[in-house]
Amino acid sequence: MARYQYLCRECGPWIVVLPMGTAEAARRCPACGGRSKRQWTAPSLNLMDRRLGRLRRREEAGRDVPEVTTAVPPAARRRPATDPRHVTLPRP
Ligand SMILES: [Zn+2]
Repeated sequence: MARYQYLCRECGPWIVVLPMGTAEAARRCPACGGRSKRQWTAPSLNLMDRRLGRLRRREEAGRDVPEVTTAVPPAARRRPATDPRHVTLPRP
């Protein structure tokens, strides 16, 4: 899905989400029903979630030069037990 922006002379710019490549040159304004022309805008790349963007960049970088693990990753830090009885419980 892609976001397309249209400009209504009465209401101003408005956005519609449509499948990519299906946007028409003009649509009816959802507010007033007037004719709205499509506007060409920059892709909305800044709307992507930061974590998703980081993962996608990492995936793209790994296509040509895969990441190689050269060392054992550090062990996860275990939180200290708040209840002293937890210390006596068996560990996996
Ligand atoms: Zn309008």
